[in-house]
Amino acid sequence: MSALIEFACGSCGSTCQVEAHLKATACPYCASPAVIERPPDPSRPQPLFVIAFVVVESAALAAARRWVKRAWFAPEAFRAAEVAAIRGVYVPAYLFSAAADAEYSAEIGENYTVTTTDSKGRTKTRTETEWSTLYGKYSAYISDVLVTASRGIHNDELEAVEPFDLRALHRYSPRLLSGWIAEEASRAAEECQRLAVDESIAVVQRRIAAMLPGDKQRGLQVSTSLRGPHQQLMLLPVWVLPVRFTSSKKKGEQVVRLLVNGQTGKVAGAPPRSWPKIIGLTVLLLGLMLGGYFLIAHR
Ligand SMILES: [Zn+2]
Repeated sequence: MSALIEFACGSCGSTCQVEAHLKATACPYCASPAVIERPPDPSRPQPLFVIAFVVVESAALAAARRWVKRAWFAPEAFRAAEVAAIRGVYVPAYLFSAAADAEYSAEIGENYTVTTTDSKGRTKTRTETEWSTLYGKYSAYISDVLVTASRGIHNDELEAVEPFDLRALHRYSPRLLSGWIAEEASRAAEECQRLAVDESIAVVQRRIAAMLPGDKQRGLQVSTSLRGPHQQLMLLPVWVLPVRFTSSKKKGEQVVRLLVNGQTGKVAGAPPRSWPKIIGLTVLLLGLMLGGYFLIAHR
């Protein structure tokens, strides 16, 4: 492995490392040419684990192209855009674990049917719900929450290409990064931990919601405390594609970033919306509904 150089993007704030001979002229995340070289910062935390790339470049590119073609509500200029500027990046993330203890309450509804008979002897049945309050406790060990430590990739973007199969963790060794770009963990560990705590609390809430009994549930209140929070820095394989397109002169050139999970091939991104298309479809649907209504009403 040849010497590493570090480059920082003046546009999105990410800092990446790459072997000197693979020197980048544009930021892999935002395609901005405003990258400056600087010496590596030895005080940055070192990753403990790496998940290796499984999806090869051609497969990632093919998946991204299919995704762009299928963005029906995007401007045509986006669907026709060239999807080629793909870079494989090892994105830093913290794997968070903690013991969670939660207390919860919720209203549980049980349905029952009521049959009534009117004065003319006609019977009717209707469904009613009886509500009661349930209190409970839930404990679990949360061990698979991943949060971004990247300046370039936000947490909701990373979440959109999760899950990663954590059974494929390797011990970190600089050798594994040979030939790839690796972003430095430039987001503060405390900030990442706050994100991870929020995500863990949301996980606990979802798990409790999923196991509530009854026919209906409402008013779930959960109070969660986490013990022994612990986070380890790791690198995740992600293919990054900034897609450039121009849909109108007024907006000029726009960039939409797609991510492809380098382990599973899952594609995610926020496709641009074409309002003329969306409004056109809404008008069409409303027209169909109104037409249907008149047909039925004036039969
Ligand atoms: Zn950038």
